[in-house]
Amino acid sequence: MPQIDSHQRCQAQDLLRFIDASPSPWHAVARMIEWLEEEGFCGLDERESWRLEACGRYYVLRDDSSLIAFVLGTDPLPEAGFRLVGAHTDSPGLRLKPNPAHAAEPMLRLGVEIYGSPILATWTDRDLSLAGRVALRGETPTVCLVDFEEALVRLPNLAIHMNREVNETGLKLDKQTELPLLLAVLEQELPPAQQFLKLLAECIDCSEQAILGFELCAYDTHKGAFWGAEGEFIASSRLDNLASCHAALEALLAEEETAATRVVALFDHEEVGSESFKGAGSSFLQDCLFRIGAALGLGPSEVRRALAASFLISADMAHAFHPNFSGWYDSEHKLVINQGPAIKVNANLRYTTEAFSQALFIGWCEEANVPFQLYVHRSTLSCGTTIGPIASARLGVRSLDVGNPLWAMHSVRESAGTCDHAFLIGALTQFFACPRIPVSG
Ligand code: ZN
Repeated sequence: MPQIDSHQRCQAQDLLRFIDASPSPWHAVARMIEWLEEEGFCGLDERESWRLEACGRYYVLRDDSSLIAFVLGTDPLPEAGFRLVGAHTDSPGLRLKPNPAHAAEPMLRLGVEIYGSPILATWTDRDLSLAGRVALRGETPTVCLVDFEEALVRLPNLAIHMNREVNETGLKLDKQTELPLLLAVLEQELPPAQQFLKLLAECIDCSEQAILGFELCAYDTHKGAFWGAEGEFIASSRLDNLASCHAALEALLAEEETAATRVVALFDHEEVGSESFKGAGSSFLQDCLFRIGAALGLGPSEVRRALAASFLISADMAHAFHPNFSGWYDSEHKLVINQGPAIKVNANLRYTTEAFSQALFIGWCEEANVPFQLYVHRSTLSCGTTIGPIASARLGVRSLDVGNPLWAMHSVRESAGTCDHAFLIGALTQFFACPRIPVSG
């Protein structure tokens, strides 16, 4: 049995509470901003010029779902460089179409688009709700967050009597005709579009005419939970990758002062390729780092020096070994839950880890007394990727990819280890405290 101490359990509990309060990327970022402001961080606006104070704590937001938070270090930036941790705020799932409401006699359904690559079958028979953001008419348009909170929509399964082969073939859903979510019985006097807009307007407390657009995600209202003989596992939606976002911020807040400037960069749109004006493929992180340099009176070549002295840890969840499906893993790289973060390796650079960045991370783990594991994908399967390769290539900064072991990645309910969350926080905290990144050779 793993020994779970109360500190580890507490950190996992905080994580579950954070995810429960973050049903969409916009909610996750809003929650993290509240948290940062409680810890004395000041918001910076990309449209304004920045004035930064020594050892100051700041955050920058791009379009409400990508967030960069940083704490200035005590040592000169060109020598100490940046300690960067990157993760993503979005999770795969179902998003409402622009005109979602339609009649499917005798029901009103909401049409959905698939965002990223969720395991669709896991969305059936769940107590689903909707959350996201709505653009409202005003003198100039404004945006507000919305969350229905209670179970509102559902995707009931087809009874086995009509789908006798389901346990042999698996559940296959037609993405256009079998995925719309059931909302209500049709009302005779109200067209479907009005019926839905009325609900949405009531939830926001605005008029239906004020709604100019929305981005709404379906989510499971089932709260996060501990499970296992000793509560050694956690289950929740969106562990991929809100668990890494949470760990990054916990590590950022663990120390008052460090020699190097610490940066946490959390991007939207990883699940759909990162190429947007706020994704990891955008200028956001680079812009922020150069502007930090400029605010400190450094020219571009001094910031380039700082980048050369920097290091990026890209944190995203990894595939835990599942004994029921042992043939899908590489037998020498089985990730065991609660045995620490995985260093993710891929010869074709789907992950950025190389020998030297791996060596550095192992050093930080050892200093923090954190176990670690090595992961490589089974050779017959195509490997996923994450923000690491994109962000480190944009910046020209050495990097590695790590992540905590996770079961059922992209299921509406994923599982991970209670101890692993604290382990990752410990390793990232140690990394942030590193005063100088050693050079290879
Ligand atoms: Zn991920």
